[in-house]
Amino acid sequence: MPELPEVENIKIGLKPNVINKKILNVTYSNIISESHKNGKLALVKDELSYFSDNVIGKEILDLERRGKYVYFTLNEGYLVTHFGMTGAYFVVNDEREITNKNYYKHRHIIFELSTGEKLVFSDIRRFGELRYLDNISNFKPFKNLAPEPFENNSLDYFLAKLEEKKYKLQKIKALLLEGNVFCGCGNIYACEVLYREKINPERTADSLTLEEKKRIFETLVEILKFSITQGGSTISDYVHSDGGEGNMQNYLKIYGKKECPLGHETENIIIKTRSTYFCPVCQKN
Ligand SMILES: [Zn+2]
Repeated sequence: MPELPEVENIKIGLKPNVINKKILNVTYSNIISESHKNGKLALVKDELSYFSDNVIGKEILDLERRGKYVYFTLNEGYLVTHFGMTGAYFVVNDEREITNKNYYKHRHIIFELSTGEKLVFSDIRRFGELRYLDNISNFKPFKNLAPEPFENNSLDYFLAKLEEKKYKLQKIKALLLEGNVFCGCGNIYACEVLYREKINPERTADSLTLEEKKRIFETLVEILKFSITQGGSTISDYVHSDGGEGNMQNYLKIYGKKECPLGHETENIIIKTRSTYFCPVCQKN
């Protein structure tokens, strides 16, 4: 699943290719049209006619990221996208330029742009979400989301959240994945930061010292920043808008590993339904 660094890279790659272009038309794959006819809102979370009516004729003024969402600011309203497990955008002159066979096969939403190019949303597993919104500030997933990790107030916010009754007895590994506590961490990065800080993933928030909490936060921000410079991680299906792949997987120390960098055998446990890699020796405490 694309996490914050991957989504940031999607945004960086896509933005110069869409800005100041107008959406002239939208077409949908048969799978999407059929699913909507059957009352299932696959990919597009609006009625297709509503979505089309609201994006056709609009100009793309900006592209921004919030958490794992990107949103196009149109000259009126917003086109909000979540990539789910395997969503991806491509800007091409000809759809055959999508060289990844799976993405070519699963291209579902095609925006025709005023330059003659196409903005294609492909999604193999179809857990992605696109919607048109008049007003972004009313969008529920943004309302309780922690501040962006690179914003000034985000550390104080994080520390305060870990003290809240609702959270303080929960495991730190689970809390890092809680968007209300930390914005845009994701499972891989949660495992990595706890390994680097030698903290056992099953520790509860209230068992951590202030110093440990700060170190977790600061190291996590560093990992995310570094991952952005590496183009994110390519673990399975994620590709950039230009079809390129990220390098962050080459720098992972614990996620998906049989041994930690010191040669100890890792363990893989489930915490709140998510697979959690850790080293029982390095992360004893
Ligand atoms: Zn170890």
